[in-house]
Amino acid sequence: MDFTLTEQMVTWRKIAREFADDVVRPVAAQLDAEPDPRDAWSWDLVEAAEAAGLRQAPLPERFGGSDTDYVTNTIILEEIAAADLGTAVVLAQHWKFAQMLNELGTPHQREKYLARNAANPRGLFAASFTEPTAGSDNILPFRKPGAGMQTFAAKVDGGYVLNGMKHYISNANRADTVLCFARTDREGPLTESVTAFVVPTDAQGLRIGKVHDKAGERSANNAEIFYEDVFVPDEDVLGEPGTALRSVGRLLRASNAYAASCALGIARECFDRTVRWCRERVQGGVPIIEHQAVGSYLADMYLNVDVSRTYIWRAAWQARTPETFDPVLAVAPKLVTSERTFDSARRAMELWGGAGVMRENGIEKLLRDAAIWLHSDGTNIILRERMANLLRTADPETNPWDGVPAEAPMIGII
Ligand SMILES: Cc1cc2nc3c(=O)[nH]c(=O)nc-3n(C[C@H](O)[C@H](O)[C@H](O)COP(=O)(O)OP(=O)(O)OC[C@H]3O[C@@H](n4cnc5c(N)ncnc54)[C@H](O)[C@@H]3O)c2cc1C
Repeated sequence: MDFTLTEQMVTWRKIAREFADDVVRPVAAQLDAEPDPRDAWSWDLVEAAEAAGLRQAPLPERFGGSDTDYVTNTIILEEIAAADLGTAVVLAQHWKFAQMLNELGTPHQREKYLARNAANPRGLFAASFTEPTAGSDNILPFRKPGAGMQTFAAKVDGGYVLNGMKHYISNANRADTVLCFARTDREGPLTESVTAFVVPTDAQGLRIGKVHDKAGERSANNAEIFYEDVFVPDEDVLGEPGTALRSVGRLLRASNAYAASCALGIARECFDRTVRWCRERVQGGVPIIEHQAVGSYLADMYLNVDVSRTYIWRAAWQARTPETFDPVLAVAPKLVTSERTFDSARRAMELWGGAGVMRENGIEKLLRDAAIWLHSDGTNIILRERMANLLRTADPETNPWDGVPAEAPMIGII
């Protein structure tokens, strides 16, 4: 196994780092401080990402991209998240659902939506699963008939009519295209009853509700979406009706690694800034890094970054084909990284003393951003439960993971 980055990866890391340092970092604190969540947004950042080749990077050249691989994408996201989590999440969400449409879509859908999106320097994707009464029940499907999401797509002549409401949706109020996950069978188990629809956000009957006022990740907007008699033609059904959640598991193989990379950027920033601080801050007559207890905190913070990154790279590498993909890796990188990142943010807060809580220093932002990842892309309890389900289905006579069926339920990573 070789962890040496290719020349291309190093180039992309440089591009991402320059974008992060020159464009994102200077405006991150101000966006974070906007009291109205609708103002915590910058189209300039999206356009600058476009200019740097980052907005469409993982997509084929035909759609303005460079076909960057999963490992490269995690490297890019780590760089951007180190400067500002929200900006990395805007791209990560856009990428994974544009990639899903690219893999699962018909030639017509790719031409209609990916080409249109590529031509718009502000083009972004969003995906809507979560509803006020159905959060974890979509990710760890609750097998009671009719449980989970309730948004319903009624079959009509030539298409479907969507009705329902989603909330917490990243990029909802900024995207030009949203994937709507809706029941096409009201009573069936979720895994067989949900269909994905490609919906332009200017479709008649699609309405954005409130923009949520979040504790962290503020420069990424999350909003409610109301689907009120939204007609979607048959040609805009994504994949086979009723199979959407299985497709998500099969096609969003790097989704969890993307999420983990966003968290990793925070942990790295906590470490880098705190090491510098500990070299400068003098107490007890020496820079505080000289105190044994401080050094041991920094060692843990270093490990949090290195362990997480190693795991993310492995997960992203294995995700490159369905054959090399391990279902555990669809769950574990975010779980491992988010808890380590939160630990790093807490340690940073302590090592910065009173300066840690002063907003002018930006350490408390890292703590608020780190908190987002304990539940985003599935709460860590739910991800543990999904791993436990994989263990339960594995053959106990062998290495526990050897028996995990390739088609093990890997539902909706959002
Ligand atoms: C910043 C952010 C971005 C998001 N982006 C998107 C997006 O783009 N698209 C989208 O569709 N959604 C998105 N979400 C929604 C996100 O996926 C959900 O918030 C998450 O899945 C948890 O659902 P919930 O908030 O309803 O919590 P709940 O499901 O209500 O969970 C509450 C608690 O109960 C626990 N719990 C629930 N069920 C079980 C169980 N069966 N066994 C044990 N414990 C359980 C959970 O672990 C948690 O601790 C986003 C959320 C946020 C805040």
